[in-house]
Amino acid sequence: MLTGEEIAARLRSVGERIAAAQRASGRAPGSVRLILASKTQPAEAIRAAYDAGARDFGENYVQEAVAKRAALGELAGATWHMIGHLQTNKAALAARTFDWIQTLDSERLANALAKAHPAPPMPALIEVNLGGETSKAGVRPEEVERLVERIRMRLELRGLMTIPPPAKRAEDARRYFAQLRELRDRVAAASGLALPELSMGMTDDFEAAIQEGATMVRIGRFVFGERAK
Ligand SMILES: *Cc1c(COP(=O)(O)O)cnc(C)c1O
Repeated sequence: MLTGEEIAARLRSVGERIAAAQRASGRAPGSVRLILASKTQPAEAIRAAYDAGARDFGENYVQEAVAKRAALGELAGATWHMIGHLQTNKAALAARTFDWIQTLDSERLANALAKAHPAPPMPALIEVNLGGETSKAGVRPEEVERLVERIRMRLELRGLMTIPPPAKRAEDARRYFAQLRELRDRVAAASGLALPELSMGMTDDFEAAIQEGATMVRIGRFVFGERAK
C-alpha cells in the first residue's frame, strides 16, 4: 500500500487533471464526481483517501465492501457505490451496504433491490455492455430502453454506466464514451426521465470520458497505485 501522503498527493493530482479536463471541454466546475475504485485496497488506504478529502468509494464485491465498511466504521459524508457485477442473491446485502448501484443489468435484480430497499428507492445506473463482450456483464444497448420502462417505478434511475472493451490508447475508448452519451440522450427522450449521470472513464482514459460527458469517473490505480495480483 502507498503511504497516506502518497495517496493524498495522487488524489490532488487526479483532482487537478479532472478540473483541467472539465475546463478544456467547457464543462461546469464540479460537474464530474470522482469515485475511487478501491477493490483489493486495504481499509487503511480508503481511510487515507477519506482523510485527504475523498468522499465517493466504489467497490466490486459485496463481501469485501461489508468487511471494509465494518473495519472503517462510520465515515461521515461518504457515499458507497457498487461498481462490480451484482448477483440477485446478494441484492439484499448490497442494498444495505451501498448507497448507489451502478451495475443494474436485469429486471430480476431491480426487483430484488426494490424489495430490500423500497423507500426511498435506491439511486441506480444501468450498466451497458457496448462492446458486446460475452466476458462482461451489462445490458446490450438495444435493450436499455425496454429495461428502463420495466423498472423505472422501482428504482431511482439516474443514468448509465459502462466499462468499454480494453483499448491500447485512451482515444480508442472515446467512441464508446460518445456512444453511451448518445444512448443516454435517446433513452432519456423516449422515457421522459432525466438520466443525468454517465459513469465512464478509468485511470487510463478518464480525460477522454470527461470530454464526452462523463459525470462520474471511477479511478483506482491512479490514486492507490497498482493492485496486487
Ligand atoms: C477497477 C475498476 C475501475 C478502476 O480501474 P483503474 O484502472 O484502477 O482506474 C473502474 N471501474 C470498475 C468497474 C472497476 O472494476
